[in-house]
Amino acid sequence: MSKIRHDWTSQEILDIYNKPLMDLLFEAATIHRQYHDPNTVQVSTLLSIKTGGCPEDCGYCPQAARYHTDIEGNDLMSVSQVKAQALRAKSSGSSRVCMGAAWRNVKDGPEFENVLEMVRTINKLDMEVCCTLGMLTENQAQRLAEAGLYAYNHNLDTSEEYYKEVISTRGYEDRLKTIDNVRKTNVTVCSGGIIGMGEKPEDRAGMLVALSRLNPQPESVPINSLVAVEGTPMEEQKPVEIWDMIRMVATTRIVMPETQVRLSAGRTEMSREGQAMCFFAGANSIFAGDKLLTTPNPDVNEDMKMFKLLGLNPQKPFLKITQPKTVEAEDSEYVPLSEKPKWSRPKHKIERNEEARKRARKQKI
Ligand code: SF4
Repeated sequence: MSKIRHDWTSQEILDIYNKPLMDLLFEAATIHRQYHDPNTVQVSTLLSIKTGGCPEDCGYCPQAARYHTDIEGNDLMSVSQVKAQALRAKSSGSSRVCMGAAWRNVKDGPEFENVLEMVRTINKLDMEVCCTLGMLTENQAQRLAEAGLYAYNHNLDTSEEYYKEVISTRGYEDRLKTIDNVRKTNVTVCSGGIIGMGEKPEDRAGMLVALSRLNPQPESVPINSLVAVEGTPMEEQKPVEIWDMIRMVATTRIVMPETQVRLSAGRTEMSREGQAMCFFAGANSIFAGDKLLTTPNPDVNEDMKMFKLLGLNPQKPFLKITQPKTVEAEDSEYVPLSEKPKWSRPKHKIERNEEARKRARKQKI
């Protein structure tokens, strides 16, 4: 078995990323087979439980209120709506539901209580529940854990160096702090990033350094390729080449052998052959459903046809970590503390992205 290392350097990772492709694929596939069943791929469903109106300025995101995109915002979904969608996802082969809300941070109050009830409801359907709700305090992480949350997603997005080109409203350290708060509970960590935002291969390696140094490493690492949405500052970015995606997946697999590598946004632009190479290189999860939060995604029936063609089996839930127990609200050990997460930029100034916003506005007139 190859060792789990937390001391990778950026140069070592870059050397792996730039290997001749056949050598890279062989090494990644060998490691993949040591730790995972190569014919099993998890199908996950991403639900946008609260869409749009986000105060952050992530340059890739159509949900940021400051950009001018065509997405339709909506308030928090109800628990029964979420349950209905989760049941539908389960019947089409999903074993995990990830609920995303376009918030800067979680605020204690009725909306968070509703999210906790959604977590309880989905966990009782025997599905893995993941949430991505923005920054989180330790108390909130404990409350989610008690409700039965299986994973919390908080992406690093890119390298620490390139991060400031993408987001100005929060710092890398804010992201790491939330991940640390999640790690103090039994909830597993899901954290990855996006390629195709104008970063260099060094930044891709830098992100993998940061993720691999977390101890333990994240149980789940989503690798997204940018879906350039009109009206965002990144609308003119060129699509990511499939070869970059394959290299990134393979390198992630080598650097973090145990993690579940998730082929995330950007799959509509990938052929079946390209996706098959990503699975061979170590990807072992896809997101199903016609939308990934707000961007397009392949139809679930098409995915199932691809699984049949490739001889892949959908992964059962709780394969590696046992299902958390759900504690009902009335039996909770935790009271809300109404703390604000410690945030590095309470008086942030928006520079680069503000210019992009003006440009986008001018184009719309
Ligand atoms: S990625 Fe998340 S935090 Fe950033 S603008 Fe979009 S919804 Fe907000």
